[in-house]
Amino acid sequence: MPKVKHRHSKTRGRKRRTHYKIAASALVKCSQCGKEKVSHKICPYCGYYDGRQIKHIETKEERKARKEKKSKSGKE
Ligand SMILES: [Zn+2]
Repeated sequence: MPKVKHRHSKTRGRKRRTHYKIAASALVKCSQCGKEKVSHKICPYCGYYDGRQIKHIETKEERKARKEKKSKSGKE
């Protein structure tokens, strides 16, 4: 069984851990709306991927309309 011979100093451990970094995720401009999005993912703003609409993204107006409809049905 391997056994640790000497403890490392705090500095030594900390120096090693300076390399533990999270790489920033690659952002690309959406070809549809031009906003920044994560590459190889559906654009969260327009729902497009590879020139096709994959997901329907609600506009502000649609959202408002839906909320109003919901609140009305709740009262009745
Ligand atoms: Zn987009």
